[in-house]
Amino acid sequence: MSLQGNSENYFGGQDQGKQGEEYMEGEKRYAWVEVNLEAVRQNLKRFRKHVGPDVRIMAVVKADGYGHGAPQCARAALSTGATMLGVATVDEGVALRHAGIAAPILVLAEPPMEAIPLILQHQLLTAAHSTEFVLALGEAADARGTVAGYHLKVDTGMNRVGIHYSDAGDFLRTISFHRGLNLQGVFTHFATADDVDTYDFGVQMRRFEESLHNIRYMGYNPGMVHAANTAATIRYKQSHFNMVRIGIGMYGLHPSEITKSMVELHPAMSVKAKVSLLKSVPVGEGVSYSFTYRSPGNVLIATLPLGYADGVSRALSNRMDVLINGQRLPQVGNICMDMLMVEANMRGSMLKPRANIELGDEAVIVGRSGNEAITLDDMARVLGTINYEIACRFGMRLGRVYLD
Ligand SMILES: *Cc1c(COP(=O)(O)O)cnc(C)c1O
Repeated sequence: MSLQGNSENYFGGQDQGKQGEEYMEGEKRYAWVEVNLEAVRQNLKRFRKHVGPDVRIMAVVKADGYGHGAPQCARAALSTGATMLGVATVDEGVALRHAGIAAPILVLAEPPMEAIPLILQHQLLTAAHSTEFVLALGEAADARGTVAGYHLKVDTGMNRVGIHYSDAGDFLRTISFHRGLNLQGVFTHFATADDVDTYDFGVQMRRFEESLHNIRYMGYNPGMVHAANTAATIRYKQSHFNMVRIGIGMYGLHPSEITKSMVELHPAMSVKAKVSLLKSVPVGEGVSYSFTYRSPGNVLIATLPLGYADGVSRALSNRMDVLINGQRLPQVGNICMDMLMVEANMRGSMLKPRANIELGDEAVIVGRSGNEAITLDDMARVLGTINYEIACRFGMRLGRVYLD
């Protein structure tokens, strides 16, 4: 096990001089994200079974692997049959190259022109949809004596980025003269693949088919054709084409309620911390900023060394639970930037004995403890958002421990 990331020394000073060495779990800071790489591999095997042997799998590791760590998850994915990686920015692609990853990497949206030298230097593939960008890419490649590969992004209705689906053929005709360019793929992205309603998905599918037809009719080879994100991969076989792009699913999370009964996935992320202080707080005393909680009796308050700068949204204050030794305990008081407090139990009564908690015990913010579990979906529901966002947030500051 190794602890990575920019965690800091919460308890002050005692590990100075250890910089650069490998840290054991909890040695540097008593809060961390645990990533189960075996779960990532299991999930990818499950998707391989689902799409069959003839469809390629792109592992989408943007936003530092949805907060799970991009290089580690990329390696786990590549070892289980993914053949390409997807990122959102050129910087993310370069970071993977610096981590020693040689697999094909596609930047999923057209980057700024200024990034072209880096794209060529690190042999990244990029999405493109404007003639200005693509011609500049071709010129730069030609000047280096190489050919730049790119995937044409087609907008079939999400109205975000991409060339309009009826213009794809004309686009290729405009730029096809350039010897520095190599069209390696054509792709689109679905806006509603996770919706109960299937109508809008169908519209996007038909538009994509139409653009592919035009491209082929005009004599161009689209190369790799891909469209499906996790939700479409699970629900719509007709959207698989040559490759599927799996993001959220490889981390063991579902894109929506609908897919939960369709494939079994194993969440890879847990968030844990050690109880760093336990104290009795007498009745009426407030806890944390603004005293949104006051002790209802003689309670035991446990302090955990993580807060909203680590990804535990402040909007969860007094609305979330924490698991300690298999017990579900309420978080109380406002969540601070670097700490949060838990009502570790009333100090004993005949009906409710004092919680069995000691300093240094492991608290589970996301994950399992005994028979209890807290999921990213639980948190997302309370916050009115999606599991994707919560997972990314836990990638901000916490160090990560990898279980291989
Ligand atoms: C993020 C992203 C994906 C992955 O989507 P999931 O729902 O996480 O599977 C696929 N394609 C594109 C273009 C993306 O930006």
